[in-house]
Amino acid sequence: KKLGIALVGLGGYATNQLAPALMQTQHIELRGIVTGTPSKIPQWQEKYKIPEKNIYNYGNFDEIADNKDIDVVYIVLPNSMHAEYTIRGAKAGKHVICEKPMSVSVKEGEEMIAACKKAGKQLAIGYRLHYDPFHLEFIRHSREQVFGKVLAVEASDGFRAGDPNQWRLKKALSGGGPLMDVGIYAIQGTRYTIGEEPIAVTAQEFPKTMPEKFKDVEESLAWQLYFPGGAVSNSFSTYTTNVNRLFAGAEKGWFEINNAFGYSGQQMRTNKGPLQITPINQQAAHMDGVALSILQNKPANNVSGEEGLRDMKVIEGIYEAIASGKKVDLKI
Ligand code: NAD
Repeated sequence: KKLGIALVGLGGYATNQLAPALMQTQHIELRGIVTGTPSKIPQWQEKYKIPEKNIYNYGNFDEIADNKDIDVVYIVLPNSMHAEYTIRGAKAGKHVICEKPMSVSVKEGEEMIAACKKAGKQLAIGYRLHYDPFHLEFIRHSREQVFGKVLAVEASDGFRAGDPNQWRLKKALSGGGPLMDVGIYAIQGTRYTIGEEPIAVTAQEFPKTMPEKFKDVEESLAWQLYFPGGAVSNSFSTYTTNVNRLFAGAEKGWFEINNAFGYSGQQMRTNKGPLQITPINQQAAHMDGVALSILQNKPANNVSGEEGLRDMKVIEGIYEAIASGKKVDLKI
């Protein structure tokens, strides 16, 4: 049996990554769309053979409750809309996949988890890298202590944000700057590499070099996490330039992934040399993985709402540490 999914929001990620990936999935297929832009409908209908009755807008979205074709809704909207559409999806009796960051606050994240629990539906976050062979091999290097215990992680993610009018630069829609958007991958990468929850955080915001463009959100920031076993991490996230790396220093060696958080182009190497790993379609693997956990009624703990919430707690800690200039204790 294949599950039916509806994409909610037909922007860049839904159009260029998710919909094409859904042509490769085995356990889930594209059956519906939810869009506020009617002009997008004809090309989606033609390309993906979506019947009229499976097309919704944001006004009539709740009527999806009556549509048996759709088992899962995938929220691919600007960050501040994730909570509302996740909760509406759960109330309509659908499983929900929600893009990262799951919300713009811990409080909203908790409300989303509660709504899905109440509806008896699964909530999964779009953490595609949990199904990526490079990251799985990276995690194995840490768990099996291939080079001994990991003592330090460097994880950074950033890119040059072009269009000054995009929603990513408006706090009301994004919830914050590069930290919310891509820094969250560095937090994830650090947490799953070390395999513990951080107990404290320090953080710094860099002065803005383009204050007009970044009047609403931070431009670049850095943070450090402190783990109960003594490991530490250092991270950088920015909207000014490309930086994309996950590095682990262990007792007897090191391992790293370059272009770590991209959709493709990963390269893993250790102090012994490069590793040959065959890339896959991350989005297809992620959606198939989530679909299997729904079909088997076993929540995907690696990408669950609870997992998303842990990152939101770290993010709030980072903002608190920047505001106070002090080391902030975390309770993850
Ligand atoms: P986008 O700007 O390309 O698309 C956003 C969509 O939301 C558009 O279709 C737009 O019409 C719609 N929208 C509805 N209301 C809007 C409003 N008030 N303002 C602006 N747009 C509105 O963005 P995107 O890159 O597709 O990102 C969407 C979500 O997906 C974000 O949460 C982002 O973090 C996430 N994302 C995840 C990945 C990943 O690798 N997991 C990659 C890209 C984006």
